[in-house]
Amino acid sequence: MTAMLLDVDRSSTDAELLHAATHWVAAHVPPTWREASVRGRNAIRKVRPLAEYEAWYPLFADSGLAVATWPREYLGLGLTQAQARVLDSVLGPLNLGRLNPLGLNNAAPALFAYGTEEQRLRYLPPIVRNDERWCQLFSEPGAGSDLASLATRAVRDGDLWILTGQKVWTTWAHESRFGLCLARTDPSAPKRKGLTYFIVDLEDPRVTVRELRHIGGEVDFNEVWLDGVEVPDTSRLGAIGEGWRAANATLSGERQMVAGAGSGGVDRIGGSGADRLIRTAGSNGIWSDSLVRQRLTSLYAEESVRRWTNERVRATVKAGGTPGPGASIGKVHQGALNQRIQLAATDVLGTGALAWETSAPATGPQAWAAGLPYEVKGMLRSRANTIEGGTTEVNKNVLGEQVLGLPREPDPYHELAWNATPRS
Ligand SMILES: Cc1cc2nc3c(=O)[nH]c(=O)nc-3n(C[C@H](O)[C@H](O)[C@H](O)COP(=O)(O)OP(=O)(O)OC[C@H]3O[C@@H](n4cnc5c(N)ncnc54)[C@H](O)[C@@H]3O)c2cc1C
Repeated sequence: MTAMLLDVDRSSTDAELLHAATHWVAAHVPPTWREASVRGRNAIRKVRPLAEYEAWYPLFADSGLAVATWPREYLGLGLTQAQARVLDSVLGPLNLGRLNPLGLNNAAPALFAYGTEEQRLRYLPPIVRNDERWCQLFSEPGAGSDLASLATRAVRDGDLWILTGQKVWTTWAHESRFGLCLARTDPSAPKRKGLTYFIVDLEDPRVTVRELRHIGGEVDFNEVWLDGVEVPDTSRLGAIGEGWRAANATLSGERQMVAGAGSGGVDRIGGSGADRLIRTAGSNGIWSDSLVRQRLTSLYAEESVRRWTNERVRATVKAGGTPGPGASIGKVHQGALNQRIQLAATDVLGTGALAWETSAPATGPQAWAAGLPYEVKGMLRSRANTIEGGTTEVNKNVLGEQVLGLPREPDPYHELAWNATPRS
């Protein structure tokens, strides 16, 4: 790796930062992207295919601009939040989105909070460069909402841990190098206390990743089998038995990301925003219906409030505060809001949402989905928004207990040994 970090630091003035960023952009951002940026973010997407962006991206990462507030040894620039905002004023119009969202939002917070310095130096720079992607090996067939009851075992063998179990719904495991894995190291301890957090190398031949295809036809998540996988003790993240606490650094980052409050800025998963619907309704004539106008402008207003609220959470995090239960508020609202927006999108299309032709001769169980309009795929994908990253019901429990101070949900097995509790 030949990082060419920008020559700026905490003592740099705003003028120096602007000069450095502008100079870097002129030297390294392809002219077609810069020209398109004048016409807006969508115009950039049109001239910048994802594959081209991915090929170029390590150059951006090596400048330190992708994670400007991180320390320089992890490919950041060690800047303050205020300085990073100055850089953003130059980079923002170029729509230089950060790749590797699970690495940045799920793995990195855990590595910062619980990793050793050796682990941070090994794993963080390839995350920033998008050289090594990550996934989250938490959920199991019998442990989703009640994650702490999970059954994947990790047994110590000298300097190694032997991991055996099955994970499911593992987003992007099929294209990840590493997985953050929560496993049970002490079955005789209460369920939350017997867990330990590990970094699993998915290239190990004893790991089997099997793709799951979802209703819109795409593959996003997987089943993952760990069949006696050998994990060195140096790949343990945090103390033995402290896995629950360490994994929560990841879960909080995930909730922010799914709600759009995370630094990755994923504002919605599935479909497109209310502004696009309004444009579609304007062009296909349905906008003349006052009830449609009322519905779409109401969604637009609600989406704007959601965005501003997310910006406030982001600002709190950037200022050094913790998102905590606040991230769950965004998650609960965003999931349901996006489902309403995507349902409206299919209504706006009218019969266009139902009839389609497949140009590609697709076969197999996903063939029917090959010709689905973009809006319908978005609507189908959005059904998962109230499940992924913790279900709405469970996040409401979190809000009730941690924000409103209501009594905790009763759990008769809370302090009972895990191997003495009934499980599905
Ligand atoms: C698109 C997508 C991506 C995902 N990606 C990942 C991933 O990368 N890694 C990973 O580890 N997991 C992932 N998951 C799994 C996800 O975290 C779980 O699906 C989720 O936590 C729910 O668990 P479950 O599916 O087992 O449902 P269950 O826990 O069995 O819940 C079933 C129903 O019961 C309700 N319920 C459960 N407990 C309570 C309670 N205490 N109070 C009230 N209602 C309750 C739930 O709200 C739900 O409606 C993903 C899921 C989806 C849909």
